[in-house]
Parts: sequence; structure tokens; C-alpha cells
Amino acid sequence: MIACNCEVCTSTDKKDNRLRASILVQSSTTTIVVDTTPDFRYQMLREKVEKIDAVLFTHPHKDHIAGLDDIRAFNFFQQSSINIYANNLTQAALKREFSYVFAEKKYPGIPEIDIITINKDPFAIGDINIIPILVWHLHMPVLAFRFHDFTYVTDANKIEEEERKKITGSKIMVLNALRKKQHISHFSLTEAIEMVQQLKVPEAYFIHLSHQMGKHQDTEKTLPVGMHLAYDGLRLMC
Ligand SMILES: [Zn+2]
Ligand SMILES: [Zn+2]
Repeated sequence: MIACNCEVCTSTDKKDNRLRASILVQSSTTTIVVDTTPDFRYQMLREKVEKIDAVLFTHPHKDHIAGLDDIRAFNFFQQSSINIYANNLTQAALKREFSYVFAEKKYPGIPEIDIITINKDPFAIGDINIIPILVWHLHMPVLAFRFHDFTYVTDANKIEEEERKKITGSKIMVLNALRKKQHISHFSLTEAIEMVQQLKVPEAYFIHLSHQMGKHQDTEKTLPVGMHLAYDGLRLMC
């Protein structure tokens, strides 16, 4: 965290240095980014991503959309616009916050995107089948996504029974757990652990961690079998 001198923010363990929450989902032919954080540009540079087929958005909060402008580099090298999958709520925010991208007369070199509206219906991008799952971030609906046997749930503190059924059977899930103390719009660590246990997913990784979670190594040791804290650059095969 900016201007913080706590033991996590000053830690020399790389797993304690975290950028904002986002994932890259890849098959042999298709690459998808979920959310474009304020760190999107650096995340793409760090992982040497050379091509993306689509961006999926979970919700309109700034820490999940702010990096969209840097999609320009992919437009340039791929010589094409990029498909953006978002619900109506997120689309409204994109139009407000990136108004120049939607302008009638566009300045040359700005991002080129094609928006595809998603809701709760399953869809596919290339050879990747995707089931959206509606979760709640206090009062805001957020889309979680199941990609075959892998489920990604960021920013949420409530998942209704009907939507939980879509997660059941996943081999791996990623779930937000902000900190140990309860929070108004994110699962706490205890709540996240309980959710994974209820869903009976055998392998889980917690994300969207605040520095208030404490040091990675200390918390990791306390987690039940099959559960882990995620860290930047973590790769999972599924
Ligand atoms: Zn959020
Ligand atoms: Zn967030």
C-alpha cells in the first residue's frame, strides 16, 4: 500500500508484494484477461503477454477497469480491435470513464474495442467455455466465471444458493479474501475458507488480499489442506 511501512509492505518476500487482482486464462489457442487493473500494463509486460483474444470484466470498480487504455498495444500488434465482455453495469462505467474510446470522432491511436454484453448465460471464447456466476459485492452484482473445471470469484461477500451450484464440481477455485477481520463487501479469510468447504472444491487460492492479511508465509501455514494464499505470477494448470 502506498505510504505504508508495515511488515507486509516492507517485506523482502516477493509473495508479500502484490499488484491488483487480475488473471490470464489460456488454452493452446485462446488467451483471455479477466479485468484490466491499474497495474494491467506492468502485468502484461512482466508476464510477456504477446496476444490477447478478449477481456472479461467482473464489475465496474476502478481497481478492475482502470488499465483498459493500455489495450492499445495489443490493437497495434494484432492489427485488430479487442473483444470486451461486460455486463450493462460495467459497460456504463466504461463509457463514463473512457468516454474518448466511445467518441464519434476518435483521436488516432486510442483503444479499439468491441463490446459484447454478457449476463448469466454461458458463452464461449475460442475453445474456452465460460459460465458466468452472479455473486454479491455488498449491493453490487459481480460476475464470477467458471472456465471448465476452474472457477474465479473476485470481489464478493455473498454467493446465493442457486449460483453456488454452478461452482460445485470445480477442481480449482480462486476466491477473494480481503483480510482476517470482517469487511462490508469482501469475504474475510474465515468466510472464504468456509465457502470453499461448503462448495467442496478440493483446491483453492485466495486473492485480493490486503496488507492487513499479514505476511504470506505466516498466514499460509494456518490454512486448511488444499487451501493457499495466491501470489503474483502464480500459475495453475487445470
Ligand atoms: Zn470491487
Ligand atoms: Zn477489487
